[in-house]
Amino acid sequence: MRMVKDSATLVEVEKGTKVVPGTNMFITTLDNIINWGRKNSLWPMTFGLACCAIEMMASGASHYDFDRFGVIFRASPRQSDVIIIAGTVTKKMAPVVRRVYDQMPEPRYVIAMGSCACSGNIYNTYGVVQGCDTFLPVDVYVPGCPPRPEALMDGVTSGENTKGAFQMEPLEIVDRLKEKFPDDIVDVKQFRDQVFVTVKRDKIVDICRYLHDAPDTQMNYLADLCGVDYPGRRLRFEVVYNLYSIKFKHRLMLKVQLPESDPSVDSVVSVWKGANWHEREACDMYGIVFNGHPDLRRILMPEDWEGYPLRKDYPLKGPEGWEYKGFEELKDLHSHDKEWNIQS
Ligand code: SF4
Repeated sequence: MRMVKDSATLVEVEKGTKVVPGTNMFITTLDNIINWGRKNSLWPMTFGLACCAIEMMASGASHYDFDRFGVIFRASPRQSDVIIIAGTVTKKMAPVVRRVYDQMPEPRYVIAMGSCACSGNIYNTYGVVQGCDTFLPVDVYVPGCPPRPEALMDGVTSGENTKGAFQMEPLEIVDRLKEKFPDDIVDVKQFRDQVFVTVKRDKIVDICRYLHDAPDTQMNYLADLCGVDYPGRRLRFEVVYNLYSIKFKHRLMLKVQLPESDPSVDSVVSVWKGANWHEREACDMYGIVFNGHPDLRRILMPEDWEGYPLRKDYPLKGPEGWEYKGFEELKDLHSHDKEWNIQS
């Protein structure tokens, strides 16, 4: 092995780590080596509690291949250094989650995966924990319902970069919007650290494109888009856009309000391709029309379904005397069971 005679020739690439020019060698301390390995081989203790766990499993499978980041799932807390809480945490389950966390060796980290683990999601009920940071020290929040594997990957790999990353407060982003679109902001509300900005419906695409493209906002992830029905309000329907910047970790909610007589708004598929499926769902469930959408077919309900099931005035069992054609066909099939010697 060639001796390194002159330490002045070493190049310091980061604090405490020097490279020997022209060789494949570097010199550092044992602590640095151990910490480098630790940083690049997070072994998650999985805690799949609901639907988000399916996305977490997909992250580990061949298509996304978490192993390439040194991330290998463990089923035991004894060898894990990060716990991924994927799903809805009920109050009955919370002590179990905490007990598993307490058994992990330090240093240990917590990733809250999905809206349920982050904040309880829509389940503000007697039995659901309103965010696992109420009983655990959460290091990284991965938003979405569910977040895609890419978002979990980002959460895992950027965890150590989160602190100190440039992050605008939502109200700073609102100030930018007010400057850029002075006549188009209808209302700004704050609730539990979330900021909701209602904007004019004919400006939604311009505003989304600005937030997506501007170098200091870069809202490159549409975490969610959904409809809401407020019967009795003058503007009965709302479309809510939940925006997030994977790069800067800041987020903002946009809203547009639509009248019952014309529940339509321009599609934002040209800004985020993923809006395609969200908009189809809002159309299917609320009858909200997204102008310019490339393929606004029903997505959950059959094509010939009548009405919009998430409207508040939709009858629980569907319109009176009406039955879904597919189910009628099934019942008809069943009526031949005896004839075909199919036993009950
Ligand atoms: S965030 Fe959505 S996908 Fe994840 S557990 Fe909750 S309801 Fe299921």
